[in-house]
Amino acid sequence: MDISIVIPLYNEEESLSELEEWIERVMKANGFSYEVIFVDDGSTDGSYSKIKHLAEKNPAIRAIRFSRNYGKSPALNTGFRMAQGDVVITMDADLQDSPDEIPELYRMIKEDGYDLVSGWKKKRYDPLSKTIPTKLFNATARKVSGIKNLHDFNCGLKAYRNQVVKNIEVYGDMHRYIPYLAKNAGFGRIGEKEVKHQARKYGHTKFGLDRFVNGYLDLGTLWFQTKFGVKPMHIFGLLGSVMFLIGFLAVLTVIILKIVSVCSHDYYFYLTKSVYFYLSLAAMIMGLQFFLTGFIGELIIRNSSERNNYLIAEEI
Ligand code: UDP
Ligand code: MG
Repeated sequence: MDISIVIPLYNEEESLSELEEWIERVMKANGFSYEVIFVDDGSTDGSYSKIKHLAEKNPAIRAIRFSRNYGKSPALNTGFRMAQGDVVITMDADLQDSPDEIPELYRMIKEDGYDLVSGWKKKRYDPLSKTIPTKLFNATARKVSGIKNLHDFNCGLKAYRNQVVKNIEVYGDMHRYIPYLAKNAGFGRIGEKEVKHQARKYGHTKFGLDRFVNGYLDLGTLWFQTKFGVKPMHIFGLLGSVMFLIGFLAVLTVIILKIVSVCSHDYYFYLTKSVYFYLSLAAMIMGLQFFLTGFIGELIIRNSSERNNYLIAEEI
């Protein structure tokens, strides 16, 4: 099979038949063998009955329905587990992404040798309150992930080599960082294609402004996991040592001050009145905590089934 199209959706009943017709038209025109995987993320409107209805007419349609709304990432992950095509395309269900882009995305994976091609909505039809924070967000994501050529990490329209989606796990809200996940899994050939974007025709966006707060927190988590995921002691041990050093210097200072004051017959210098005394206490306690966190981290890693999973590129 050439192409699997994975479509996560949550309450998008008005868009579905238009989307399905459009996809079918493009696939037929290009002679692709394909499947469409609708992942209904717990819709409460008529989305799923609409899909059932569409599936009766088109045998290329597969669908799965969550029992409640889990989120876009779990929906994508589930679609990825099901996908059988050589190239896997993800797109949103709200008609903002155009199926006309699929043939070129397919070609870029197949012929140009990309592992992942991400859409770039250069001209966006979203409100300013969304496009400006998005620019900032993408700049940070580029910096942190080291994927310098991507303008639009969170574009719903993306294409993947099948092997990529089988080797990454999208959970929580991590769909914003799939290129970063792919890079970490060893798929470094990441490309970009400018795509047409349309204003949402029906329904409304499912994400509020909290997306940016959560987005940044998730980016922090991913960065941490990438750098110290299997060696937490390297960061916590360092922080702990720095704290101990500060504590040690503070103790030394306070002792010297005391000795100096005794020698100069100034008996009114009390240790507990010195700022260095408190600094030494706080620094030592924090240092100890960093070390313990590091040790606990190492114990957790030791028990993780993932700790020795490597993606083998070649073998003789
Ligand atoms: N979506 C989903 N589960 C959710 C929220 C969104 O499957 O909990 C789907 C939604 O139906 C759409 C896609 O994810 O197909 C992108 O959502 P939306 O268009 O609301 O995001 P935006 O375009 O505003 O970034
Ligand atoms: Mg949308």
